[in-house]
Amino acid sequence: MKAAIITIGDELLIGQTVDTNSAWMGAELSKSGFDVYRIISVHDRREDIIYALNEAAGKTDVVLITGGLGPTSDDITKQTLCEYFNTHLVMNNEILSMIEEMMIHRNFPMNNKNRSQAEVPESCRVLKNAAGTAPGMWFEKDGTIYISMPGVPHEMKYLMTELVLPELNKRFTSQTIIHKNIMTYGTFEAKLAEILTTFETGLPENIKLAYLPASGVIKLRLTGTGSDYNSLSNLINEQVDKLYETIPELIYGEDEESLEMVIGKLLKSTKKTVSTAESCTGGEIAHLLTSVAGSSAYYKGSVIAYANSVKTQLLGVQDYIITKHGAVSENTAKEMAVGARGLLKTDYAIGTSGIAGPDGGTEVKSVGTVWIAVASEREVICEKHVFGNDRITNIKRFSLAALNLLRKQIINH
Ligand code: ATP
Repeated sequence: MKAAIITIGDELLIGQTVDTNSAWMGAELSKSGFDVYRIISVHDRREDIIYALNEAAGKTDVVLITGGLGPTSDDITKQTLCEYFNTHLVMNNEILSMIEEMMIHRNFPMNNKNRSQAEVPESCRVLKNAAGTAPGMWFEKDGTIYISMPGVPHEMKYLMTELVLPELNKRFTSQTIIHKNIMTYGTFEAKLAEILTTFETGLPENIKLAYLPASGVIKLRLTGTGSDYNSLSNLINEQVDKLYETIPELIYGEDEESLEMVIGKLLKSTKKTVSTAESCTGGEIAHLLTSVAGSSAYYKGSVIAYANSVKTQLLGVQDYIITKHGAVSENTAKEMAVGARGLLKTDYAIGTSGIAGPDGGTEVKSVGTVWIAVASEREVICEKHVFGNDRITNIKRFSLAALNLLRKQIINH
């Protein structure tokens, strides 16, 4: 079962609107067992729409189309579909009444443009859109189903969920596809691929592994295809267990979990608290921790100790430590963490001091160097990392490294 997605709209090609419709529809089609063969985005231009339709015709069972159904003159999808399917527009009185009711309800006057939205190609089956004014349209030609829907994401989702997917699921005996994501942190993609060579070659035929790196985190996605959900699910779980055996120190979570979400769960379950003393990360760690709902249960606060005077006056870092070892040093990061833990009265505290760049590096301390400390009741540990030259990337990388060190400390306690 193959499917294609066509999204129509000038705004998609000039970067004004991110094509979230394709991502959402691709995920839903994949869950229903479709192999999404192609995603094409085109301008609101007759010849481009026809090119995209030809590209999908004959090669797929289903083509989902969104966009260009509005009442304005730049919305030309309906006219182009009429031409493509050799039909013409007719007034649909049921849709007209729905639009009239909606306009009355919203207290908007009805005009000819609204009325034109009730005109539909004669040969299509109309999909009533209770979430908006433009109806969806279902065409069938030479064994392929074409479904055109509005571009507005919530209207498309309404039509897909209520009408399109239930019917597609009924018409196609779907193959089951299961995706399982394993979240890793602590190495780079090429290294991880090397570590997992044996695991990957030993995977069953119907299970594929994908590496999806994003800002230091690498998501490992296992995708299984089969006819029986339960046996496929068991097979995927066996592979997940093998992954945990192979790279236990690199896996921090599953599915879409972030490090800060996992830390939140760990701190909540152990009833512990954390605070931060951030120099080079400038509050990024605090931001990540507090972006998790419910973080007030375990996160107390932060001292952004950018200047040395703040490190000494608020966190109690001793002057001689900074003079002797430098602000970017193991000793300073450790004292910052200890200072924050005492000041904010938490079980754990993170201290970061580094050189985010692009300036400030020296021969002994290059740009991208960071010292990260985690203080707890039992001990103060510290790690040094050296990343790259880009400031924003470094701040993000420093913060993730700090969160991972905290996570490991909580687990070890
Ligand atoms: P309507 O008749 O309700 O206006 P339409 O089919 O004409 O629907 P468009 O005019 O193409 O839809 O787009 C309406 C809105 O939906 C715009 O704000 C647009 O940015 C957004 N949109 C369109 N296509 C997509 C897409 N592929 N992903 C995300 N948003 C989209």
